[in-house]
Amino acid sequence: MFLRPSDYEFVIEPNPSASFDLIVGATAGSSNKQKQLVYDFFAQQTGRTLDWGILTGVRPVKLLAEMLQTRTLDEANALLREEYRVSKEKTELLSEVYRTQLSVNFDEAPPAVGLYIGIPFCPSRCLYCSFPSNVISREGSEKYLEALHKEIDAVAGRIETLGWYAESIYIGGGTPTSLNVSQLQELLRRISQRFITDRTREFTVECGRPDTIDKDKLNIIAQWGAERISINPQTMVDRTLEYIGRSHNAQQIRDAFSLAKTCGIPMINADLIAGLPGEDPKDFKFSLDQVLLLKPANITVHTLAVKKASRLIEEDQDYAYRTGAATAEMLADAGATLRREGYRPYYLYRQKHMAGNLENVGYALPGTESLYNIRIMAEDQSIIALGAGGISKIYYPEENRLERIPNVTNYEIYIERIEEMIQRKETGIQ
Ligand code: SF4
Repeated sequence: MFLRPSDYEFVIEPNPSASFDLIVGATAGSSNKQKQLVYDFFAQQTGRTLDWGILTGVRPVKLLAEMLQTRTLDEANALLREEYRVSKEKTELLSEVYRTQLSVNFDEAPPAVGLYIGIPFCPSRCLYCSFPSNVISREGSEKYLEALHKEIDAVAGRIETLGWYAESIYIGGGTPTSLNVSQLQELLRRISQRFITDRTREFTVECGRPDTIDKDKLNIIAQWGAERISINPQTMVDRTLEYIGRSHNAQQIRDAFSLAKTCGIPMINADLIAGLPGEDPKDFKFSLDQVLLLKPANITVHTLAVKKASRLIEEDQDYAYRTGAATAEMLADAGATLRREGYRPYYLYRQKHMAGNLENVGYALPGTESLYNIRIMAEDQSIIALGAGGISKIYYPEENRLERIPNVTNYEIYIERIEEMIQRKETGIQ
């Protein structure tokens, strides 16, 4: 069937540009031709275009890499522009990320795998949070770790049997450092002893919120061999930090950075979010400038995504769709500043419901790119995920195919059903 704009009756609201992103997002299940028709119609009606056109997938760099198997870079970029209506700026960004990734060496997979270990606890819940994170309790975290340790032992045995090894290990969450000192010590001791070999190239602990970090915890992290951590300001504007429910201020972020350096942790990533409530491009620039003074190895610039599970969407359903233009300005300025400061964009992903339908970009000083972040987006390696909510993806290179092994998301159900989670891995990891 050939569809023309005249085959549809569009209802244009008084301010059609407000919902343009939403409408294009809603065409995700349609053919490219149908999406183009809808997109072109609204672009004409509203006088607006979208940076990513009709492209809705999470991994545009992977799409570019696939295109490059049969095309030149110029041909791939032309296809992205013509078929997907992607802007010139974004095709250039994709090419830049792709080129940075070409400069990174990866181990053959298998036997190299990535490991993700999830700690689903935080000291409090942020306004925009859509992760299945829980406010930490002593009893809940103790029981959770007991189950997680069992899963760690079982997975370590399984990958050893297969002759595989952990190329990268990433402890994320939640906020792993919301565990207390003895819990963190025991967890890192077990991970280090069960998974780290002389072939392991990367060990990251996401610290996230500075109010969970102290000297003892950072010393434990360094002692067990993690050379990368993440301290995530999100913003350096105190009034926003308070509004979004982070129980810390900007000075605590600065203190956490200096403590981590004192403890000998060489690589720190800092996450920022563009498009936070009440912030304009000047606020975002202030935050970026402040973070640059801390000299992190990596800076990840996120676009605020307002998802169903967040408190923010209850307060303002259309938030992400109204803030697109300002957020686009923040991202463009940040990209220019970071390049001037010597950072290169090295991984990129997109999510649904992002302000302006934009993207998240990880920037790194050359040589500090995270293998884990690149490979989880490239889907060219098995990533085994342990803990509540972890979804393992086992990669079969001959067929270029992934097989998913999910753990349950609720941490209390994970504890109850830990033997079943282990059994799924025993049969699924092969
Ligand atoms: S720190 Fe991250 S995981 Fe924890 S509540 Fe905030 S957004 Fe959610």
